[in-house]
Amino acid sequence: MSGIILKDKALVASLRAGLLVWYDTHGRKLPWRQGERDPYRVWLSEVMLQQTTVPHAAPYYEKFLRLWPTLRDLAAAEDGRVMAEWAGLGYYARARKLLECARTVVRGHGGVFPADETELLKLPGFGPYTSAAVAAIAFGHAANVVDGNIERVMTRLYAIETPMPAAKPQVREAAAQWVNDDRAGDWPQALMDMATLICRPKSPVCGGCPLAEACVARARGEQERFPVKLAKAPKPRRYGVVFVIQSGDDVLVERRADKGLLGGMLGLPHTEWRSEPYRTEEITPPLSAPFEVIGSYEHVFTHFALTQEVWRAQVSDESVCDFLRRNNSFQLLPVSEKVLPTVFAKALKMKPVAPGLFD
Ligand code: SF4
Repeated sequence: MSGIILKDKALVASLRAGLLVWYDTHGRKLPWRQGERDPYRVWLSEVMLQQTTVPHAAPYYEKFLRLWPTLRDLAAAEDGRVMAEWAGLGYYARARKLLECARTVVRGHGGVFPADETELLKLPGFGPYTSAAVAAIAFGHAANVVDGNIERVMTRLYAIETPMPAAKPQVREAAAQWVNDDRAGDWPQALMDMATLICRPKSPVCGGCPLAEACVARARGEQERFPVKLAKAPKPRRYGVVFVIQSGDDVLVERRADKGLLGGMLGLPHTEWRSEPYRTEEITPPLSAPFEVIGSYEHVFTHFALTQEVWRAQVSDESVCDFLRRNNSFQLLPVSEKVLPTVFAKALKMKPVAPGLFD
């Protein structure tokens, strides 16, 4: 790390003040920034924003607040309802942790989030980032909040050559130099907004950057080289077959086991997701029916990419009722209800490649 800013605390103070002035005029008007800084709202937004863009998370945030305006409301909600309302937001373990955390705070903290970063870190679903973000934004504590956007700014400002993620300790050290009690809650938000609007991954707009004077990468003309990343190994591929079994306007779904991928969510029945493609004779649908193969689609999870073939059948009311009597983890769901995770919603959207081909 160059250390140029370490030596000049007055420059840090002046650039920091300049960025906060920029934020007052150009900061994004996001739904979770309206009104009082309520720890419940700050926490809810931070959980939803993990691995998710602002435009995607915002409608979910507003919907959750309409359905469960307070932490106590959320803690009292029925698990299946919360999972269903989360559908489409992805990374479903977050929804389970959200509920677990709400109930822990109600039971163990009288329904009030602790203000201390170390105490926050003990709550379900809280890692170093969320603890620091809630401590800073909701409680105004001088916490060192470092997300991917702030990493980008810091690696450029200091021209950190160590590849990510090994550079994380250096990045934290760099970011800590800018943290103090003055507008401690606004600071990380100002930095994130600057990172999103100005210090963009591609084509940063350095001419409008309040921190440009101190930026080593800019001085060298190699902003986009930072953060340095190691080449990523391709994700392993898995294969599966999903069954779209319709009875009139309803589709057969099952409640997935609580543990594991998409745990607790509703999903379409499918084969195991394995590393080898399936041969037709290996596939056993959950119930016997005249299936047609209508195509396949791709879905990318965090740890693997999935190629999924879609088998579809229309079955009679009698056969589906008989099946439901014998299999109580299954139920019928109106096709129009948008409560399935994206990996299954994609199967419902598929049309036959050539209608009538499999009739
Ligand atoms: S000068 Fe450019 S590269 Fe450096 S922090 Fe500002 S926007 Fe990012």
